[in-house]
Amino acid sequence: MSEGIKNVTAEIIAVGNELLLGIVQDTNTHWLCKQISGLGGRVRRCAIVADDLAMIGQALKQALASGRDLIIITGGLGPTQDDMTLEAVAQALRKPLEEHPQALEMVAGRYLELYEQGRVESPELTASRRKMARLPQGATPLPNRVGTAPGVLLREGKSMIVALPGVPSEMQDIFGNALRPYLRELFGKAFYSEVTLIVELNDESRIAPLLGEFQRSRPEVYIKSRPRSFEGGMKIAITLAMSGERVVVEDTLDRLVEDLRARLEREGFSTSVEAGGR
Ligand code: ATP
Ligand code: MG
Repeated sequence: MSEGIKNVTAEIIAVGNELLLGIVQDTNTHWLCKQISGLGGRVRRCAIVADDLAMIGQALKQALASGRDLIIITGGLGPTQDDMTLEAVAQALRKPLEEHPQALEMVAGRYLELYEQGRVESPELTASRRKMARLPQGATPLPNRVGTAPGVLLREGKSMIVALPGVPSEMQDIFGNALRPYLRELFGKAFYSEVTLIVELNDESRIAPLLGEFQRSRPEVYIKSRPRSFEGGMKIAITLAMSGERVVVEDTLDRLVEDLRARLEREGFSTSVEAGGR
């Protein structure tokens, strides 16, 4: 790997009883996985945990112990009692929660805007509103342009921990704006690309040995196969994905796709490269 390319590993922790009760579907994890892969990172594990101090803390400690470069927690940043993500993070890291002046300014500013728009009855900084500005010591608040709770960024050892609100539009706003410079620093110049091959076959097991051998010989590429239904019936889609420096990724993927196609064709399987891939 050349200068500036890091293989960033990530873990996502979605917090919320409503997710575990099946009332709300966890779409944040899916969205974040897509973003992180697109930046060239590798999400290694995702967890959904209850609104529970010990459960959130345990999930965070596990992610830290696994040495993830990026740990994103979504949900539980709001003003209510059951929003306890920051308290759990503080406990797990043995840091106190402190009112952060800049975070308080952000919360105050947002409530003033909402008041002026007639969306809340008063701009007053009540205790529950102030709660959103209480961050673990050493944290940096990230402005939320959609809702009221700032996102939170913290570093612990080599890991970057980011807490984002559960409301998808708020989470996406912070990830795409306030967090962007930090992500750029973390991911360096990594570039991600993938190509999907379609194989005329409905029994994945027939190509499993070939794919296994191919993956073992080229560990820098991530290979995933899955059956997919097409108009003419089931076929197998094989995706080759890679991250790194742009020219290296493009060149390597082109070569590997041709290599894999040739191997499959030699064994009698017809293949095509999925349109819209690269
Ligand atoms: P707020 O400041 O708005 O209270 P919050 O960080 O406290 O945000 P939660 O209370 O955890 O967020 O969740 C608020 C709502 O956001 C949930 O009721 C749910 O509708 C939605 N939500 C939370 N987590 C997810 C998720 N992982 N995927 C999709 N939607 C989610
Ligand atoms: Mg909430």
